[in-house]
Amino acid sequence: MSKDENSMSAKIFSLQAELLWESVPPAVRPTLLCNVWCGQCRTEVEIVDYAGKEKAGDLILEGRCAVCAGRVARLIETSDRRPP
Ligand SMILES: [Zn+2]
Repeated sequence: MSKDENSMSAKIFSLQAELLWESVPPAVRPTLLCNVWCGQCRTEVEIVDYAGKEKAGDLILEGRCAVCAGRVARLIETSDRRPP
């Protein structure tokens, strides 16, 4: 029996992005995923089929709008956790 890890939403995260995502409190994650600005819908939508990457200490989620399937992205600032 082979264990199939493929679920309906395949997340593709780089290692750095994975670590940053892990640093986001689990209670906050669904909120972040459901408050992504879509330029086509002109409102906040849910991001689906997203992948994560790290840039300058922040996490960038890139995926598709759950409503119109257009490309959306969300920057999650994790670098502001540093003390001033
Ligand atoms: Zn949209």
